[in-house]
Amino acid sequence: MNEKKIIIAIDGHSSCGKSTMAKALARQLGYVYIDTGAMYRVVTLVALRKGWIENKIPFTKKIIEGLKDIQITFKWDEKEGKNTTFLNGENVEDEIRQLEVSENVSPISTIAEVRHEMVRQQRENGKNKGIVMDGRDIGTVVFPDAELKIFMTASPEIRARRRFLELSEKGEQVNLEEILANVEGRDKIDSTRAVSPLKQANDAIILDNSELTREQQLDWAVKKVKERLKENDC
Ligand code: C5P
Repeated sequence: MNEKKIIIAIDGHSSCGKSTMAKALARQLGYVYIDTGAMYRVVTLVALRKGWIENKIPFTKKIIEGLKDIQITFKWDEKEGKNTTFLNGENVEDEIRQLEVSENVSPISTIAEVRHEMVRQQRENGKNKGIVMDGRDIGTVVFPDAELKIFMTASPEIRARRRFLELSEKGEQVNLEEILANVEGRDKIDSTRAVSPLKQANDAIILDNSELTREQQLDWAVKKVKERLKENDC
């Protein structure tokens, strides 16, 4: 593939495999991968640890004040073959994926100041291009000029089942109905919030992966990248 690098924005509904595809695509292209959901999850983890959220109602002022003490970094874990998230140098990758974090992350993601700070860090990461970033507002807010925008979705039932299997494999005691409720609940909050709601960018290409394997999705995405590089004369 050619030398010139582009920005690839992948948005979509909860648990539809955005990060799996984004990671594989970044690997194949030799690009940097940033999981922006992990960033909002880290802020949520801090809020839970500090008691800054109760019954899913965030203590907004405390969280905003606390942002300056939150340093989020990512490292590629060669042994595990996965991207790992760190909070002030502590590996929190497993903790941020737990259901308690999933259940509290969407209310925290509605806080404008939290979004503002996350977006600032995300833009900083993408300033040299050659990046695949996944989230909810990447193609609409973070990188509205991204050369390739993909909007991923799948039916809520399929997404819940995939998440259920993923968490069960990690040994978590989970319930399919609870996960389905979480997936649908997060979609609702994410799509209806006032600041940067989840929506498809006008120039995004839709990928409904309900019936696709991981390999088929990756092949599809690589084809789109090649088309974009050609169109942009890269
Ligand atoms: O992608 P993931 O499911 O890990 O994201 C967790 C939550 O973080 C989402 O449900 C959403 O509330 C929030 N989020 C967001 N904007 C992003 C990425 C994630 O609001 N760019």
